[in-house]
Amino acid sequence: MNTEEFRKHAHQLVDWMADFFDEVENLPVTPEMQPGDVYRKIPETPPVEAENFAEIFSDFKEKIMPGMSHWQSPNWFAYFPANSSKPSVLAEMLTATLGTQGMIWLTSPAATELEERMMEWLRQMIGLPAGFTGVIQDTASTATLVALLTAREKFSGWNINRKGFTGQPFTIYSSSQVHSSIDKAVKIAGLGEENLRKIPVDEDFALIPNLLVNAIEKDLKAGKKPLAVISALGTTSSTAIDPIRPIGEICQKYGLWHHVDAAFAGTALLLPEKRWMNDGAELADSFVFNPHKWMLVNFDCTAYFVKDSKALVRTFSITPEYLKTNHDQEVKNYRDWGIQLGRRFRSLKLWFVIRSYGIDGIQKMLRYHLQMARWFEQQIDEAEDFEKLAPVPLNTICFRYKPQNIEQEHVLNSLNQMLIEHLNETRKVLFTQTKLDDKFTIRMVIGQTEVQERHVKAAWQLIQTTARSLPIM
Ligand code: PLP
Repeated sequence: MNTEEFRKHAHQLVDWMADFFDEVENLPVTPEMQPGDVYRKIPETPPVEAENFAEIFSDFKEKIMPGMSHWQSPNWFAYFPANSSKPSVLAEMLTATLGTQGMIWLTSPAATELEERMMEWLRQMIGLPAGFTGVIQDTASTATLVALLTAREKFSGWNINRKGFTGQPFTIYSSSQVHSSIDKAVKIAGLGEENLRKIPVDEDFALIPNLLVNAIEKDLKAGKKPLAVISALGTTSSTAIDPIRPIGEICQKYGLWHHVDAAFAGTALLLPEKRWMNDGAELADSFVFNPHKWMLVNFDCTAYFVKDSKALVRTFSITPEYLKTNHDQEVKNYRDWGIQLGRRFRSLKLWFVIRSYGIDGIQKMLRYHLQMARWFEQQIDEAEDFEKLAPVPLNTICFRYKPQNIEQEHVLNSLNQMLIEHLNETRKVLFTQTKLDDKFTIRMVIGQTEVQERHVKAAWQLIQTTARSLPIM
């Protein structure tokens, strides 16, 4: 492809992209597909001869697009959003064009220094104390693994990297509601799934500090080595907020690393009225949130903050001859701040987004989402045949259909399973479920870039009519 052809196709693609942004709300949220449908449409072997771009693009539209689920649809109420924005997409175009690889300062000084500044901006934006230093990771899963590996090294006297595991096992603590990425990080860090203690939660699904203390004491008596607590600032099921300050105090008392997982809810800290959620953050050792979830930055972009950045670097740093530069003493080489060597230029999209919206613009969006969530919560509270199943501190509403004459839990579970299946089969919306106190729970998350009242109202209408037409067993 020569430059003129590139120019022509790029214009064509940008037109397609702009149309997509306008059209996405009219597309089915999920495709009607069977496993293997797309796979079978792709030739078994790669082409030997070059194909022309028109054909490739036409196949994209005909073979790929019909198999896409639309995360950017305003009718996407599932999981947590991975909301994007036009400035973010524009930045990604430049990132791809530059094709830079920011593993060390020298491989792209601007990429490193913009990242440094963007992490400083983000830290201020969410009100984290100045003692934290930030670095971009690909995902919150990676950031949590990085936190556990750093804790493991620091508390083993830097021994495990060198000698492998010896002696009594470390123990790790989180609430029973914590995200599966914590279990995964514990496994990958070699700490052992059986050493992860899931502490019970209260009626709001937040970790109970006294029970955390009991678990730590019990492990100490058994000769184990308590290592870290992972708090959830916004659990995945219901955005429950663990009590960050009491947990931080317990960690300080027993000398444990405190990692705060605010993957989704961290963006809400841009709102001063939501900062109560992070009270006690100054006692934490590390903190993670995902601008790629609710802050208009397209996937992937995770902000990881750590207090003892020297410990982080000491855990990950390896400097073979071919990576040495004359500037190593004066600069940040982000390859030493995480697992991967090669690094995408992710700070550019943060810069574009933060400047395009301003703090004010992002706050406006968040408040609008929260206002719609309050409206939806109110509808659930007022409907006699629906029930709210968890507090709503943010924009995730956990509910179920509960006709007045039905009390048996297993019947309600099947009824709600049927409800979500019927709703999702319409392809007009997408919801996901969880279990709270063993109750099948439907989650409604209102966080899409373009979601408006009319989408939320239409979804509520659909929920009611679908629920009330279900056959009761
Ligand atoms: N932590 C929490 C609380 C989450 O809700 C999620 C994902 O939804 C994650 C961690 C994992 O995020 P990522 O996909 O960035 O690894």
